Amino acid sequence: TPVEGEGYLSSLNAEQRAAVEHGEGAVAGPLLVIAGAGSGKTNTLAHRVAHLIVKGADPRRILLMTFSRRAASEMRSRVERIAARVLGDKAAALTEGLTWAGTFHAVGARLLRDYALEIGLDPAFTIHDREDSADLMNLVRHELGLSKTESRFPAKGTCLAIYSRVVNAQDELEPILAKSFPWCMGWAEELKQLFAAYVDAKQAQNVLDYDDLLLWWAQMCGEAAIAEHLGGRFDHILVDEYQDTNRLQASILLALKPDGAGLTVVGDDAQSIYSFRAAEVRNILDFPGHFAELARVVTLDRNYRSTDVILAAANAVIGEASERFTKNLWTERSSRDLPRLVTVRDEAEQANYVADQVLEAREEGVALKAQAVLFRAAHHSGPLEIELTRRNMPFVKFGGLKFLDAAHVKDVLAVLRFAENPKDRVAAFRVMQLIPGIGPSAAGHALEAMERALDPALGLQFFKAPARAEADWPGFVELYSGLRTKSSWPADLERVRLWYEPHLERIHEDAGTRRADLLQLEQIAAGYSSRERFLTDLTLDPPDATSDEAGPPHLDEDYLILSTIHSAKGQEWTKVFVLNAVDGCIPSDLAVGERDEIEEERRLLYVAMTRAKDSLHLITPQRFFVHGQAARGDRHVYASRTRFITEPMLERFAQTAWPPPSQGASGRSPQPNIRVDLKAKMRGMWR
Ligand code: ATP
Ligand code: MG
Repeated sequence: TPVEGEGYLSSLNAEQRAAVEHGEGAVAGPLLVIAGAGSGKTNTLAHRVAHLIVKGADPRRILLMTFSRRAASEMRSRVERIAARVLGDKAAALTEGLTWAGTFHAVGARLLRDYALEIGLDPAFTIHDREDSADLMNLVRHELGLSKTESRFPAKGTCLAIYSRVVNAQDELEPILAKSFPWCMGWAEELKQLFAAYVDAKQAQNVLDYDDLLLWWAQMCGEAAIAEHLGGRFDHILVDEYQDTNRLQASILLALKPDGAGLTVVGDDAQSIYSFRAAEVRNILDFPGHFAELARVVTLDRNYRSTDVILAAANAVIGEASERFTKNLWTERSSRDLPRLVTVRDEAEQANYVADQVLEAREEGVALKAQAVLFRAAHHSGPLEIELTRRNMPFVKFGGLKFLDAAHVKDVLAVLRFAENPKDRVAAFRVMQLIPGIGPSAAGHALEAMERALDPALGLQFFKAPARAEADWPGFVELYSGLRTKSSWPADLERVRLWYEPHLERIHEDAGTRRADLLQLEQIAAGYSSRERFLTDLTLDPPDATSDEAGPPHLDEDYLILSTIHSAKGQEWTKVFVLNAVDGCIPSDLAVGERDEIEEERRLLYVAMTRAKDSLHLITPQRFFVHGQAARGDRHVYASRTRFITEPMLERFAQTAWPPPSQGASGRSPQPNIRVDLKAKMRGMWR
């Protein structure tokens, strides 16, 4: 069908349009869009995908990689809306076909299942989240005797962090230790031994951790025949937020599209904020060089998001950065509402201030959802969460604690995982030990019985549980056999919940609210076609926590967004509050020292500021609470304004103190000047 006019591209500026139409009619060569915040990179990407589809590309052969599952689904609905302007009703069916949209990890998991048999992997593998991985690392560590003999051996979390960094940075252990974990340098040999055993354990148990999803994918691409087959499945590969990919991810892209044909990457080097996860800003800077300068590079310089005063302040902050490719942006949105720099006494006052301001804005018609509160570390929002709860203001928190982190949710998912993969020891131990009378040794024996049997469920049936567990064991065996042999989705989850409920009541006092979470989980499950897809998605990108305990958001309500700056990437709100804009938080006092780390903190502040469309408040408490690190313990510290806002920049902000000096703390009016002895008066009442 002929395209009726191309009005759907008319909202784009010339550069955006060039990026959207790049390579049209021929095989598109590699394309890089590199530009500052709010310049329409993501919007351009969505238009490009829509345009490709409108021009006849097969959506099933488009691979779209974004930073989160949420970003992927937003991208898909944007593509659909854009395409609908030309294709009308047909757009929905076409964008349905855009199933290869998600994070690198999620896409990796799917491809690995597809190609499992070709690469010697059992397709029933299960995926460990970071906590499971740390548990397995710990198990292996104990088996090697590394924790017993030497109490100063790095903790399980540190071991996992080191392992993960080595894998993602594609570097040797020693330089990684020297650069990022200097206090572990004496342990290099033991760590190598540990990591080798950890890899063996994962393979024996048929589990993959997060890093494996990239590592196996990259290794798979190392086989030329598979790489070619894999690359041939996709006509177009598009990646958003490319500045935050690591070497492994770049190597995957290059293996899939060695000549860059059909490859589009989009990003902003000034927003690179994930080097602690081995993200490599050189990926984006070196992109053109990989293709012998054949790549098309599009830069965008107009910002459509923020007012000029907000942009000027953000530009000033990033202007001091030591290295930067993208240039300053301009905007046509002029405003006199300068970004505010608000001094408050402490974090409690900060919470009060934010809650007041949010409500005031809502009175003026700015929905809660159009406002966001951003912070450097997940725990910084604690006092605010308490204040919001006290005032009954609903919120959703992105980053930090997730729905999945709740013990009861993990228990239930572990049952499903164990049913999916009987070799997954971390899941098996977690599940069996829920049963009274089953400890680690009985669980270990049960697992051995399962391994010996041809069919694991039968092995479990023949295992003789200890007498103490006699009452509860048969119920578990029945559940497990049912999940293995008569699995039906999503009914499986309900079966697990019914089995789990008595245990829940025994273990937790607040069983009622936790049960409600599990019912929510069933609602989420209903949206999935299979147990395996559900488990994979939830493990890779769990729903965020909300104000009503740990449940996922009810999407029809209005709620305030609380988010770490990292999780706020790519998003925008009418009104943005940044908590703790003080030295020690931004930059984090964990980063103080190394120049690279300080530079990354500056970019973080830039990311936070550029999320705001109309109104931006940076708040600086004079004192703030520091959670115990090393020997220093929890304490209050006196803070000063973040070093990234220097004296000359102050004219770009409206500086205020809150509460205004005329009122006392907490906005109360001054104490009345009277003295009476109420105690005496009370005693007198009975005399
Ligand atoms: P970030 O770096 O933060 O990810 P970005 O470069 O991806 O930002 P977008 O989120 O795509 O920017 O766009 C920012 C805002 O500008 C969005 O509200 C988008 O709808 C709007 N926008 C982008 N391009 C145009 C345009 N040509 N005309 C009008 N609005 C636009
Ligand atoms: Mg974007």
